[in-house]
Order: sequence, then structure tokens, then C-alpha cells
Amino acid sequence: MSKRDYYEVLGVDKGADQKEIKKAYRRLAQKYHPDRNPDDDTSAEKFREVSEAYEILGDGEKRGAYDQFGHAGVDGQGGGGGGFGAGGGDFSDIFGDVFGDIFGGGGGRRRGPNAPARGSDLRYNLELDLEQAVAGTSVDIRVPRHIGCDRCDGDGAEPGSTKETCPTCQGLGQVRMQQGFFAVQQTCPTCHGGGEHIKVPCHKCNGDGRVRETRTLSVKIPAGVDVGDRIRLNAEGEAGINGGPPGDLYVQVAIKPHPIFERDGRHLQCEVPINFVDAALGGELEVPTLNGRVKLKIPPETQTGKLFRMRGKGVKPVRGGAPGDLLCKVVLETPVNLNDEQKDLLEKLQKSFDDSNSRNHSPKKSGFFDSVKKFFEDMKP
Ligand SMILES: [Zn+2]
Ligand SMILES: [Zn+2]
Repeated sequence: MSKRDYYEVLGVDKGADQKEIKKAYRRLAQKYHPDRNPDDDTSAEKFREVSEAYEILGDGEKRGAYDQFGHAGVDGQGGGGGGFGAGGGDFSDIFGDVFGDIFGGGGGRRRGPNAPARGSDLRYNLELDLEQAVAGTSVDIRVPRHIGCDRCDGDGAEPGSTKETCPTCQGLGQVRMQQGFFAVQQTCPTCHGGGEHIKVPCHKCNGDGRVRETRTLSVKIPAGVDVGDRIRLNAEGEAGINGGPPGDLYVQVAIKPHPIFERDGRHLQCEVPINFVDAALGGELEVPTLNGRVKLKIPPETQTGKLFRMRGKGVKPVRGGAPGDLLCKVVLETPVNLNDEQKDLLEKLQKSFDDSNSRNHSPKKSGFFDSVKKFFEDMKP
């Protein structure tokens, strides 16, 4: 079954802004929500479809990829494929956003107000030189993040003071509000769902239990990393909440353009200019590799654009395997700034070509002009 267009699923225009998309999603998600349609497979399927569409369109980056490449651009990112709720963590985030306040407290979906929660993962974009990526290196990065407050041990209360049950919600973390015909459960505005009231907030973190800190971390970059690789630093993300474990830090690798080499996975490519005498007579060139210069023999009568493969002079992949190759593309350079003597020699050479059979010396050119001649003759009525 082919997937429906995500914009169609949400019933919005391609140019809809994030607010409209979110609104359309809320409306449809509430309509098809399993709590309202128990044991209805069609609704469950619709709910899954709507959630998947929002997961992509509600995220600027994923939406961009979808606009450009369609479903192929976001494959595996949406909740599609599996059964209900297959989106995993992302899915529950959306769920919490939309339904947290409306359905919260019912059905036991919501976590308890004081339950520990894992801290968020962080991403750090790291740009490396090609040489660093190929050889591996160690870099220091500065990462701003929240860490547990050491003064109150993440508790939020000034050491020595006590906490009391929240007077607004009596410790439930939720309050009931009357809105027209509906009684709506909302997160308690006093304790923000914590259920406890801090009498004297910690002087260092102002009762948050976490403080912002910029730390310098040393990251070991393994040899052979490529664009798009991620290095995970265990437990170096945001601190957890209520004593939960910290998240992880992901270092996302990007590689700067190199003045000589272009990288394609484990292979490298470079262009080597040669003059036409070397190309005609053959010879030895010096070509660059990442480990210094090496000699490259080129045979006589080498044409421009020819690729020479130097085995094993590429990149050793980070996940193992043999190193790739270096592909040297020779590019013929027409001589410039000729003096009179050199011009004279070239004219003599040209004359010598004309005197002998020039087809012998430039088979490609002769073939080309034969084709041109035939082309115009075929056009004659
Ligand atoms: Zn504190
Ligand atoms: Zn409260």
C-alpha cells in the first residue's frame, strides 16, 4: 500500500505554517484518539496515520526533507511501518504535548508527579578537517548543559529546609478547572506537577534542582569517521529530573571541504594537471596523498580526464575493512605565456603533423570532423 500524502492526511495546504499544522493535528488526533474510540481499528489506524504525518510536518527539518524528496526523504523517521504507537520516544513526546493536560491523570498514562525522568539527549555539531577525520584525533568541545545541582543534590530545596505538600493541589500535581461544560484536569500551576512546595528554594539553583554549566569535554574521534557519523558520549547529556539518569551527548560529524581531495566514502579523488608533453610522451608525476607525495607513472599518449587508481591510498573505514583507493584524474593543461622560440617550435610541430597523416596523430578529432561532415550532408534535401 502506498502512503498518503502527509499534507492530505492532515488536510492542510502545502504552505501551511506550523500553527495551522499543529491545530489540524490536534483536531484529528482528538477525533481518532483510542481513548475515545475503544476497539475501533479504523480509528486506531487513522490516529497512527495522523500522528505519523505530524511527526514529519511538525518538525521543520523533517518537513523540509519531505517537501524535497517525498516519503523517501523521511523514510524510517515517522511512526509508520509498525503498529500503533511505533514512533517510540518521539511519539510519546507529541502525545504528552497534546494530551498531557486534557487526558492527563486518566488511564495511568501520565508519569507520577515525582517520578524520575531521564534527562534529554544533546547534540553537538563538530566540523573536522579531512585529515582529522581520516587519521582520527582528539578534540575539546565546550558543551553548555544542565547538570544536577550539587548544593541541594538535585532536590531544589535549600539544605536543612523541608518541603511541604503543595497547598494548591494537595500533592496531586493536578487541578480540576471548569471550562464551560467541561471539567478539565490541568497541571498544578503552583508546583508544576511536582506535588510538593519548596519553602526555601536552594540558593544555587533557585529550586530547579539543576544548574546550567558549560563544560569542556575531550572527545576521541576514531580514524575514518565520515559525514553523518555520530559519536555517543554516555551520560554527558542533560541531567535527569527527580533523580533520573542523565541523557547522552551525540557528537555529529561534518567534514570541511578540502582544497585537493574530494571524499566519497572510503575513496578519495583528486585532479592532477599535466602538460601536453608529459601526456604525449608519458612520464612520472608526483601526486599528493594524505600521507605525502608519491610517484605516479603515466603511459605515453595519455588523454585528459583519464583516471589512475592508486590502491590503498584512500581512507580506512571507521567500521573496519580495507582502505579505499585514491583516484587521480589527470587534466591536460594548455601551455600559457609562450615565448617566440616556443611558439616557433609549436608551429614546426603543427607543420610536421600536417605533413604526415594528421589522422594518425588526432584520431578523435578526425573522427569528430567526419561526423560533423556527415551530419551536414544528411541535412541536405
Ligand atoms: Zn540546588
Ligand atoms: Zn500543586
